[in-house]
Amino acid sequence: MINQNPYYFIDTHAHLDMLKKMTPDDAVMQSQKEGVKYIINPGSSLSGSIKSCEYSAIFENVYSAIGVHPHDAEDFDSKTLYEMEKLIKENSKKIVAVGETGFDYFRNLSPKKAQEKAFASQVELALKYRLPVIIHDRDAHEDTLELLKKYSVKTSGNDALKAVIHCFSGSTDFALKCLELGFFISFTGVITFPNAKELAQTVKEVPLERIFLETDAPFLAPQEKRGQENYPGFVKYIAEKIATIKGLQISEVAQVTSDNAHNFFRIRRDN
Ligand SMILES: [Zn+2]
Ligand SMILES: [Zn+2]
Repeated sequence: MINQNPYYFIDTHAHLDMLKKMTPDDAVMQSQKEGVKYIINPGSSLSGSIKSCEYSAIFENVYSAIGVHPHDAEDFDSKTLYEMEKLIKENSKKIVAVGETGFDYFRNLSPKKAQEKAFASQVELALKYRLPVIIHDRDAHEDTLELLKKYSVKTSGNDALKAVIHCFSGSTDFALKCLELGFFISFTGVITFPNAKELAQTVKEVPLERIFLETDAPFLAPQEKRGQENYPGFVKYIAEKIATIKGLQISEVAQVTSDNAHNFFRIRRDN
């Protein structure tokens, strides 16, 4: 008898709407062959969020998040918020989070004040609809923590703020502070880069029960595929790296991180 271990991956962060070399159809189909059962397509802008909802309507195994990236925060206003709320109401079965939102002080494409306003509004939107928030944090660890803490201490139980720091790039100390607040940490292919020594240490310290896998496709292809366009099918390299760092089987990494994603994003299970 063939012993088929039915583990699978969930890519919790892939911008199918930004792929240039692959069509979303190909990316979804090809990644299924690589063991990716579900994909979450985050929004980076209002138009991107609309696209994200379109994909989650077309593909059964694609879920969407809606959000305005800190890069586009300057365009965020009450009308954006109104449209986002409309999307949530119209796509309640497939929208699993608000995001990505947060701070990006690396590129600073929008003024800090605008980033903060858009971030806070989107956290409030998530709390209103009891959705988790996908956080983008680049060179802004302290401000990110401060803003999230403010909302976290005000909420509890079923209304508690649920957040994931996506494409985690902070220190182990910052990761531990996020864990204390009940947040999750999501790692990309950056952990496979040879110079990511500090990040590998962080992977070691964060319990598997609090980790998600994500490709952040089409960006950040893992070391094995460096130079290629990233897509959800490459998520296995991230799982492999986590397994190596923690001394686990890849099947365990797949099962636990998928379980985490099912619970956190309330993604249905087949059986
Ligand atoms: Zn991001
Ligand atoms: Zn992203």
